[in-house]
Amino acid sequence: MASTQRRVQVLAPEVARKIAAGEVIERPASVVRELLDNAIDAGAASLELQITNGGIDSVRLVDDGWGISPEDLPTCILPHATSKISSAEDLEHVASLGFRGEALASIAAVARLEITSRTPENDTAYRLTVEAGKTKQPQPAAAQPGTTVVVNSLFYCVPARKKFLKNPRAESAAVRATLTERATAFPELQFRFFVDGSLRAFYPPASASERIATLFGGALPANQLHEIRGSGPGFEITTVLAGPEHYRRDRKQIQVFVNRRRIAEFAFVQAVEHAFAPFMPGGRFPIACVFIECEPELVDFNVHPAKKEVRFRTKAEIRRRLVEIIREFLHAYDLSRHDLRAVRRAELATSADDSEASSTNLFAGDDEQGLSAGERVALIHRSRAPIVPDIPPSPAAATGHRRAQASETHPGRPGSETYGAGPPADAEFRYLGQVYGVFLLVEYRGRLFVLDQHAAHERVLYERYRAHRHRQQLLVPIEIEADETQERHLSASQAAWAELGLTLTQMAPGRWRIEAVPAACRDEEQLLSEAVLEAAPHTESLSDRFYTELACKAAVRDGDPLEPEAAVQLISEALRLPQQRCPHGRPLWIEISREELYRRAQRL
Ligand code: ADP
Ligand code: MG
Repeated sequence: MASTQRRVQVLAPEVARKIAAGEVIERPASVVRELLDNAIDAGAASLELQITNGGIDSVRLVDDGWGISPEDLPTCILPHATSKISSAEDLEHVASLGFRGEALASIAAVARLEITSRTPENDTAYRLTVEAGKTKQPQPAAAQPGTTVVVNSLFYCVPARKKFLKNPRAESAAVRATLTERATAFPELQFRFFVDGSLRAFYPPASASERIATLFGGALPANQLHEIRGSGPGFEITTVLAGPEHYRRDRKQIQVFVNRRRIAEFAFVQAVEHAFAPFMPGGRFPIACVFIECEPELVDFNVHPAKKEVRFRTKAEIRRRLVEIIREFLHAYDLSRHDLRAVRRAELATSADDSEASSTNLFAGDDEQGLSAGERVALIHRSRAPIVPDIPPSPAAATGHRRAQASETHPGRPGSETYGAGPPADAEFRYLGQVYGVFLLVEYRGRLFVLDQHAAHERVLYERYRAHRHRQQLLVPIEIEADETQERHLSASQAAWAELGLTLTQMAPGRWRIEAVPAACRDEEQLLSEAVLEAAPHTESLSDRFYTELACKAAVRDGDPLEPEAAVQLISEALRLPQQRCPHGRPLWIEISREELYRRAQRL
């Protein structure tokens, strides 16, 4: 390659500018991002965005902010010209969206730029135009106070870049996505959006949840969105979320904003997922916008040209708090939503409004097999009934297909209650029968509920295991054979097992023994070794995994016939549960409302 080797030389300023501009301005959506940020930084209350041909031909933003004085107009388009910071120390506490002083200069380098601006104290506006690197001095013009920026013919002077643009529809969609991000973060501002002359979106000033509901375009009404708050040292979190009955099949609606900027920080997205996990079956993802307000000193946005990345000083702390406030909310939500008293109150208030009960699978295709409309989990919560710590034998015992010893009386069982022989004295439900081999039909105060027998039994067992951790020595220890990987996991988790009440001893390489187990798990002898092996790799959530695995294996299965007494017993136990979801997060109860039946029978 020696023949093509050239001398090293410094690039001409206009070439350097075009290269630098490429980092900031990639496509029309980047122009829109920068213009929206500038208008917001200028204190605008109302922003009107117009694009033609996907923004490739023109982007125009009209704002009513504080404007740019005629003296500043020629300066604001120069590289590194900004009014937002003046020293390196200022970088430590930037409160504005912009601060690099690069956007207008970059746009001017790759497109035709026209800025018309009027400050409140001026009667006239002034217009500045830049084309092909030439700036015309500001000329008087007629305009309202505020600023209008027009960017025409993007990349007209950089054909190589222009080639990489997508078709106008795709560019227009990217512009809209950018607008949506800002509209989500700034609900108090008004946005209007025109595409090729026609109005496509109008967002009047609103609260955070109202704005998000508007952005969902009716798919998720504002009364289905909940605003929850929490704080910690130097930060505040507001989360707008929908209950677990609303979900998507991807993570697109888990959005995180820090100081009003959308960031791509997977740790926080994961935190939201983690918080929802006990309330949502796998494969579903929640709908939640997280707004974190941080003292500017705690974050550094100066890492990514488009400010999509951010460095945090207190990431772990924010993460922890985020999980906490979402969990707290979801627990209360599950209870209130399904507390029969609440159901009854709602019934009195609105006799026929079924909208609150419906489940929404947002834009993700419905797979609920006909139950989607009424997938209301009924947590029928009888305030009177305490959670009986020593719950009676599992309904499986009554089906007779499992070990007989399960029907023995258990020590500590409350003597006054009778189990297995019919509903307890205070029962208010009527068991109607089992359908499809897995659902139990229950009439409760004139309402029809469907209980998932496997899910319900899983949760009943899970709670039972958890409540009885005292160690019980096994007469005949359970042998476990472990391969190399399993053995590693068993060794690593040994101490954690001991804490759970399970004594695990290594006999020889590859041979382990369970010598003692938590009392409540005693009956599940044959299932224990499998559950131990499956839970062992998950050291962080060992007990949860173990109880979940064991409950899942021990619970009645789909297709198991249930004797009526066993069914009745399972129903009354399920009614007493504190958590009306199975350990995997699926709801136990589904209510089929009178309205729904009437509607389906076309009686309405
Ligand atoms: P930055 O936003 O990083 O400061 P820009 O190149 O985007 O850099 O803008 C340069 C300067 O122009 C801003 O600091 C601001 O003073 C001024 N400016 C740009 N747009 C507007 C606007 N819409 N209203 C008022 N001032 C603006
Ligand atoms: Mg800017």
